[in-house]
Amino acid sequence: MRIVSGIQPTGNLHLGNYLGAIRNWVKMQDDATATGGECLYFLADLHAISMPHVPAELASNTREMVAALVACGVDPDRSILFNQAQVPQHTELQWLLNGTARMGWLNRMTQWKDKAGKNREGASVALFTYPVLQAADVLLYQATHVPVGEDQKQHLELARDIAQKFNNDFAPKDGNGEEAPVFTLPDPIIPPEAARIMSLRDGTAKMSKSDPSDMARINLTDDADTIMKKIKKAKTDPEPLPSDKAGLAGRPEAANLVGIYAVMTGGTVESVLAEFGEEGFGKFKPALGELLVSKLAPINDRFVELRRDRATLDAFLRQGAEKARALAVPTLNAAYDALGLVRG
Ligand code: ATP
Ligand code: MG
Repeated sequence: MRIVSGIQPTGNLHLGNYLGAIRNWVKMQDDATATGGECLYFLADLHAISMPHVPAELASNTREMVAALVACGVDPDRSILFNQAQVPQHTELQWLLNGTARMGWLNRMTQWKDKAGKNREGASVALFTYPVLQAADVLLYQATHVPVGEDQKQHLELARDIAQKFNNDFAPKDGNGEEAPVFTLPDPIIPPEAARIMSLRDGTAKMSKSDPSDMARINLTDDADTIMKKIKKAKTDPEPLPSDKAGLAGRPEAANLVGIYAVMTGGTVESVLAEFGEEGFGKFKPALGELLVSKLAPINDRFVELRRDRATLDAFLRQGAEKARALAVPTLNAAYDALGLVRG
């Protein structure tokens, strides 16, 4: 089993990013390595330039994301952790696949339609060919499995279509006249239902880094006092917690805090309510704050230390890129050969 997954480099990481995304990577890594598989995790910095961006921020967000991933448990010795820009085979293979991908296929991608909006003429070419780079990202490593959320299913389907057409059109015949496919068709893994963490100021809005209020989120950089203060000030209603799940209906802020407690302890909403039902927030909030502090403190310590240590972060990325290149080269060579491209 070889899992390949990418994430856009962003800064200001928060509890929602950790519980909704990063934690799954750590779990996949632990599961895959326990069964002799491996994970390749990359920062999609080449994808980031498909939209307007600030170069200095891209560089600092890339390092910040590495710091967060490692602090949260992605192990650069067990997983291959790298950024696309240091593995030129991604862009090389993308060009080769551009010969196979069809305009009509890309035109049907809903992410392209959404992100380009009405201004297609003004959208970057990279935004249009983005799914071809994504196909290259996974086909380059003969990925067997790719985790995909709802919004990325269509792109993985496209990667499979590209791989299949390429194999059909160009796969060389071996000595017995059998086709030797160049690419593995990757299967989707639907990630376990990801926790969706809501804002601490509004239980109906997602916790997000772009919320102007810092009190709305728990950042991975927050220290113990800040976490306690934010939970204490989190918006709630005046009622005590209900004793069953049905009682959370119409109480989004209460439901969010109970939900956070449940995922952080590995329990369920029911088990949290069995413990705290009929209690007021005066009792529940300090318990939640202390839970968060104890679980996040080791992550926070490592994150704060790492994000200051650019040399170490760059070394992680260099080391990951080296391993990724070694895996990528044979497949890329096979693709060049299949297409009849002479590289003496
Ligand atoms: P923005 O406000 O700029 O969209 P964001 O805070 O939503 O930023 P993203 O960079 O869009 O963060 O998301 C990174 C990853 O974290 C994605 O996989 C996303 O699904 C996940 N994620 C973001 N916010 C949450 C949240 N509140 N709960 C669960 N998962 C989240
Ligand atoms: Mg977002």
